[in-house]
Amino acid sequence: MSENERNRQKQVPLLEVSGLKKYYPIEAGISKKQVGLVKAVDDVTLKIYKNEVLGVVGESGCGKTTLGRTILRVIEPTDGSIVFHFGDKTIDFTALNKKELRGMRRHIQMVFQNPYTSLNPRMTIFDIVAEPMRLAGEYTEAEISDRVRYLIDKVGLELKHLNRYPHAFSGGQRQRIGIARALALGPKFVVADEAVSALDVSIQAQILNLMVDLKEEYDLTYMFVAHNLSVVEHISDRVCVMYLGSVVELAETEELFYYPKHPYTEALLSAIPVADPTIKNERIVMPGEVGNAANLPSGCCFHPRCRYAQECCKKERPPLREVSPGHFAACHFADARRLEGIGELKVKKA
Ligand code: SF4
Repeated sequence: MSENERNRQKQVPLLEVSGLKKYYPIEAGISKKQVGLVKAVDDVTLKIYKNEVLGVVGESGCGKTTLGRTILRVIEPTDGSIVFHFGDKTIDFTALNKKELRGMRRHIQMVFQNPYTSLNPRMTIFDIVAEPMRLAGEYTEAEISDRVRYLIDKVGLELKHLNRYPHAFSGGQRQRIGIARALALGPKFVVADEAVSALDVSIQAQILNLMVDLKEEYDLTYMFVAHNLSVVEHISDRVCVMYLGSVVELAETEELFYYPKHPYTEALLSAIPVADPTIKNERIVMPGEVGNAANLPSGCCFHPRCRYAQECCKKERPPLREVSPGHFAACHFADARRLEGIGELKVKKA
């Protein structure tokens, strides 16, 4: 067990999610009779510790964005519990009414995927960053002005930009404005939903480094949702891999990238391009498409695409279990076999 994992296990988590579900009904006919359910998030249990970055990865449609939004109750969960521990205060987030929820919003914020649509084109940058403080109703205009100037400077923009409108900025600058807005009320937990996916690669690095600096300075905890594994590897302390609404693997970043224990993670990692011609990177091609969340396969959801599938995989759903200290995987054979794909090659090279 790594030193980090030992320290983590001694801590009280900042956020505990148990049995979280988000199902959407499928209705048909004039009577809108319910004929099925889309299981976008299906029984997710995880903990996020103070000051860590938990990366959440998976293919499009795996439920990672829905998970982030459900944790923040931007989307109401169907079932399950979300508990925050702020110092000695424990808050059952799922039990809060609308007014209490508004009060809690200062502690939990979101950075959105698309910096082009997440900023109101009719508001100046000053007003966009000031809006959360005005809505909180606890600050004078002088305090708001000071805070906005401070944040704009922190995210690397110039004060002369304050009276301009979003259309005058590049994608990277807009994402900086989105980050300044998210930090306006001094949150403790931030969900970054594909926060750098819409940006050029060189700008992605700047935004990631900014987020890391701000995390240290403000003692932030991030849930970093992304489909780009290299980005997640760069920023995350631990990584959670999702497939069809469920968590299939969760471990410290290095452990997961070098020693994946779930075949889906192994296949995702094999698809990362390696910028070294001396390394032979054998790509594992998963047959077929991501399954249908409205009609989940029996047993292990991944069995139609898994190259290690056995008869039992079609019948029994493997639970997410701790295979080694701090390393969880939902595969019947996770501890019988060590999957050493692209990770092993990286180790040899190092
Ligand atoms: Fe593959 Fe079976 Fe493991 Fe599922 S339980 S990931 S089908 S080996």
